[in-house]
Amino acid sequence: MKLLQDVSSVRNFTQKQTAKQEIGLVPTMGALHRGHRALLEASLQNNDLTICSIYVNPTQFNNPDDLDKYPRTLEHDLKFLEEVGCDAVFCPPNQVMYPKKEQQLLQLSFGHLDKILEGQHRPGHFSGVGLVVSKLLNIVQPRRAYFGQKDLQQLAIIRQMVREFCISVEIMSVPIVREASGLALSSRNQRLSSEEKQVATQLYRTLLFAQQQYEIGIDLTTIKQQVLDRLSRDTGIRVEYFEVVRIDDFHLIEEADKSGAIAFCVAAYVGDVRLIDNIIVPPAKSTQQEH
Ligand code: AMP
Repeated sequence: MKLLQDVSSVRNFTQKQTAKQEIGLVPTMGALHRGHRALLEASLQNNDLTICSIYVNPTQFNNPDDLDKYPRTLEHDLKFLEEVGCDAVFCPPNQVMYPKKEQQLLQLSFGHLDKILEGQHRPGHFSGVGLVVSKLLNIVQPRRAYFGQKDLQQLAIIRQMVREFCISVEIMSVPIVREASGLALSSRNQRLSSEEKQVATQLYRTLLFAQQQYEIGIDLTTIKQQVLDRLSRDTGIRVEYFEVVRIDDFHLIEEADKSGAIAFCVAAYVGDVRLIDNIIVPPAKSTQQEH
């Protein structure tokens, strides 16, 4: 596996490939786990070459403490990527990604998409995500780039950005990988104690409960109240939001939409770790979980 740390070494690597070879990019912030592995495997299956990027992007952290505490496990990650069969890893230092601190000059906004959910609670987060993903796409110029449904709003934003900027890449989405307990895998789970991990499983159980209620026709206002009641019973959980969006346009909805898929989305603190999760509910009669 090639280790690439600056823009020209990525360009040298990609330009050596023949025009027919397709490159898949898997952007990550490291501390790799089975969720990342699912993205990598999807890319390995569909492309001739897979490049994984590992970069803890400072411009998408609105909370400096979260940035400081973000797990960094490069040695483990490189071994993990070797084992998966990844062709190259791009792990740039900050001065490669932000040589002139231009993050202070360029701000991206995404209309209603960054005013709700994560955007509302993490000001500037999606501007930072958009900036770093557009840089990565420009540097690597992949045929396909892979993102997890774990970050459902991020996926909607990246799709919009790629459309608006006419970036020639196919955005591929991969379903959420969970532990046997239902807890969505996340690099931040490393910061949970074993008791907190147990408490955190309540998030997915509550999403499943919401889905069941929705499918038997309970209205969304009642479901939201039931969910907040259930989660507030658990003293270890502090809910930041629980909302419902229409998958099609990522607008918040207050009433059931029987014609299209919806998603229940939650963000909550377990101890001092902020976790997000979601569940996509297809329209009645369909069993597809596609986004
Ligand atoms: P991160 O390193 O957390 O920025 O994640 C990098 C990519 O992996 C993002 O596209 C995430 O949505 C995706 N990802 C993270 N956790 C999971 C998971 N449990 N299942 C599927 N994809 C995931």
